[in-house]
Amino acid sequence: MNQTTEFDAIVIGSGITGGWAAKELTEKGLKVLVLERGKPLEHQKGYIHEFTAPWQAPMQGLPDRQLDARDYEIQSKIERGAFSWANRHYWINDRKNPYEQVKPFRWHRTDVLGGRSLTWGRQSYRWGPDDFLQNKRDGHGNDWPIRYTDLEPWYTHVEKFIGVSGAPEGLENFPDGHYLPPFEMTALEKHLKRTVEAKWTDRRVTIGRVANLTEAHEGRGPCQRRAICNRGCSFGAYFSSLSSTLPAAQKTGLLTIRTDSVVEAIDVDPATKKATGVRVIDAKSGERLRFGAKVIFLNASTYGTLQVLLQSRSAAHPNGIGNHSDVLGRYLVDHAGVGVFAEIPGFEDRNYEGRRPTGILVPRFRNIGGQDADADFTRGYGFQGGAMRDDWTNTAAQTDGFGADMKHQIARPGKWIAFLGAFCEQLPQKDNRVVLNENKRGGFGLPQLSFDVAYGENERRMKLDAAKQAEQMLVAAGAKHVVTIPVRAIPGVSIHEMGGARMGHDPAESVLNAHNQVHGVPNLFVTDGAAMASSGTVNPSLTYMALTARAADYAVAQLKAGAL
Ligand SMILES: Cc1cc2nc3c(=O)[nH]c(=O)nc-3n(C[C@H](O)[C@H](O)[C@H](O)COP(=O)(O)OP(=O)(O)OC[C@H]3O[C@@H](n4cnc5c(N)ncnc54)[C@H](O)[C@@H]3O)c2cc1C
Ligand code: SF4
Repeated sequence: MNQTTEFDAIVIGSGITGGWAAKELTEKGLKVLVLERGKPLEHQKGYIHEFTAPWQAPMQGLPDRQLDARDYEIQSKIERGAFSWANRHYWINDRKNPYEQVKPFRWHRTDVLGGRSLTWGRQSYRWGPDDFLQNKRDGHGNDWPIRYTDLEPWYTHVEKFIGVSGAPEGLENFPDGHYLPPFEMTALEKHLKRTVEAKWTDRRVTIGRVANLTEAHEGRGPCQRRAICNRGCSFGAYFSSLSSTLPAAQKTGLLTIRTDSVVEAIDVDPATKKATGVRVIDAKSGERLRFGAKVIFLNASTYGTLQVLLQSRSAAHPNGIGNHSDVLGRYLVDHAGVGVFAEIPGFEDRNYEGRRPTGILVPRFRNIGGQDADADFTRGYGFQGGAMRDDWTNTAAQTDGFGADMKHQIARPGKWIAFLGAFCEQLPQKDNRVVLNENKRGGFGLPQLSFDVAYGENERRMKLDAAKQAEQMLVAAGAKHVVTIPVRAIPGVSIHEMGGARMGHDPAESVLNAHNQVHGVPNLFVTDGAAMASSGTVNPSLTYMALTARAADYAVAQLKAGAL
């Protein structure tokens, strides 16, 4: 095995958190190597279909069912149109990278430089004080070793750099941040806001806080409101590693990026108990390499990170790094979901202008500060959704007529449709876990990850309540037909995977300490979703970014003090 140049730090993964680790560590003077298993992708040049019109697209933009079934069986099933002909090249090949599903499970992952920072929905919310306290209060999951106040300055630090548009609301458990001007609500969303807030004093309807720039920011262009962000954005108008953090790291002259580099394992010196470097398989040549460094940041996304930790076995760590007490891979959490749609008449004389890369959000209002008397479940949920007029692609099939007459009919804006989708907090359960299956080999001959994850009774009850409350709000706003559909029903579909190497005070109950260091391996930091001890009710990536910046600051201070 070749041993190559020593770096001060190695960052594994170039997605949302890896990009942040690279930026912070290089800006603090460290020589950093980013290892990314995926293919190279260049900002602007790599967004090959960004400006392709549907009529110029292969098969006019229809899915290539044969190709997708063969190579993208899992990825092509992702919800919200995130996988398409325009960005197929970002996603992993499922045929070449299989995994085991003990119970049905969707693992959605990219395979390019920049990771899912290219495809994410950019909804960016701070978690509230309660989110870091609930495990302790109700006993589900272990106590977080940090509180909201520990992360508060780091949320600010991250928001100021990435640029988040949104509206302050002054709610205690839905903290405000630093915002660019918000996108505008549609006429029906404004009406929904007025009605809901008038009827329920504990409920708020706000515009989605989103990492899309409503004005130029940090050398990046403002959003053109095209809402085709998951193709990539040459204006850099949404936050991604490629548009933001990696260029900032590159500017320091201290960054090296190596793509097509699959990290297999991390080596730990049994004498010093420190991580010494990483073992890598070159994805193109199959060559095995080793890179050394003083500090390692593991940012391969929750399951990628767990896979590397589980694969890192040695005499001192026979079951994988950080797995002395069999916690590694357990207590996986995410968001269960339910979606409620309604047709709301009365605004036919109104339309909205252009598109918009966000929706609306109703912050959690159930079981806040104590148990609601009428709630038969623990914790709560928030809603994300929107209200818009149906367009011709949906109405054409239901429109009678022929020729010019039909064309005129479908050129008219359709009915107003409102949608509220619940993000229900999943309770941490010991048996929701991933392990390695040594008998099944996947990409690069590595053992397959095996997922044994299910939603529980609490999530089922919460979804029923969420559907009821959503219906009440939509009816209050004048809904005619209300339809409830299961969304994000299969674990993994929500793509907010968290846990498996959770933070905690006690090494017997957790894998990481309050600074995201692996208990007992002080120079190994895990700052992606694997670190999370619970799932909250809003999207998690802003919290991962804040955790990463905080841990990088601590790591460099410790390194300078000679403690790592
Ligand atoms: C369609 C979609 C919409 C989403 N919307 C939102 C949203 O609105 N808000 C939100 O907060 N979150 C959202 N998410 C989730 C968000 O994308 C993730 O939380 C976030 O990307 C996690 O960051 P990460 O750095 O941990 O992982 P990623 O961004 O996935 O990056 C991980 C990187 O590590 C690489 N890697 C993996 N294994 C290895 C290995 N062994 N060796 C080397 N490299 C490796 C991967 O190739 C990848 O590039 C969404 C996700 C998707 C897919
Ligand atoms: S909507 Fe805005 S951020 Fe999204 S691709 Fe268009 S310009 Fe870029």
